[in-house]
Amino acid sequence: MTSPTRTTLLACLLGAAFLGPVANVSLAQNPPADHPAVTVKGQTYTPRSILARNMGTPEDQTTQFPPHKIVGNIYYVGTKTLSSFLIVTPQGNILIDSTYERNVKTIEKSITDLGFKFSDVKVLLGNHAHGDHQEGDALVKQLTGAQVMAMAEDVPALKAMKPGGKEHPIDRILHDGEAVTLGGATLIAHLTPGHTPGCTTWTTTVQEGGRNYNVVFSCSLRAPASLTSATVDEMTRSFKLVRTLPCDVQVGDHPAQYNMHEKYAKLQSGGPNPFIDPASCTLEADIQEAMFKAVLAEQPPAARP
Ligand SMILES: [Zn+2]
Repeated sequence: MTSPTRTTLLACLLGAAFLGPVANVSLAQNPPADHPAVTVKGQTYTPRSILARNMGTPEDQTTQFPPHKIVGNIYYVGTKTLSSFLIVTPQGNILIDSTYERNVKTIEKSITDLGFKFSDVKVLLGNHAHGDHQEGDALVKQLTGAQVMAMAEDVPALKAMKPGGKEHPIDRILHDGEAVTLGGATLIAHLTPGHTPGCTTWTTTVQEGGRNYNVVFSCSLRAPASLTSATVDEMTRSFKLVRTLPCDVQVGDHPAQYNMHEKYAKLQSGGPNPFIDPASCTLEADIQEAMFKAVLAEQPPAARP
């Protein structure tokens, strides 16, 4: 049973988890619930373990992860627990997720370490309007002049994100199904709401070794702690939609959502590209949908939307 007070408190805590260092302190003191527990493919998860898995420690959130090629022209340039992806084209590059503003220099370093130029970032896209993914947008825009594009439904939350008082830049407002193109690369923006109203799953196709691969940049499917009938409808639609996307390579806004650390270790030992793994494409959706249903079932019938 979840009392209204507890639900409200949990919603605040989960929301606060994305606001930065101050929130990390409160998260450590008041972690989210350790129930319900769900088991998917032999692994047990609770809301607390999922958030811990996603965020790691404050140090993990700001420590550079070795930048590496994922597949084709797509590279990882984020930290240990906050993803940032670079798509390289002959006419400049696309960056997905600036993460926290304090990580922008680390992302720049990762791009440089790979032999690319930060100033070649021409388009900046986002996963969803939470600070751990898009707080650094204004600084990236300032340093590179990139065009910043955002899903319409996340624009209000992005506009409210003003690190150091900087206005959140938005050069183009996107709608469900629209394409972003640059230098032969095409990314499609799929609206997959629930975690935020404008949560965006990006898809593209890349070539490697003479073959085409479908890549899915998943948006978070972690349900908000407080479920309304609107968010229940959104999450239900999003779980269904992501399962229809052609997928050979799935990545997510947190590396834990696609077992990056494990796959990166495999990458070091040679052999076939471990990121090309169609069988694991819907694992994160399976985990989050199981949790979503368990949370819903835990709500008192009267409180269920
Ligand atoms: Zn989030």
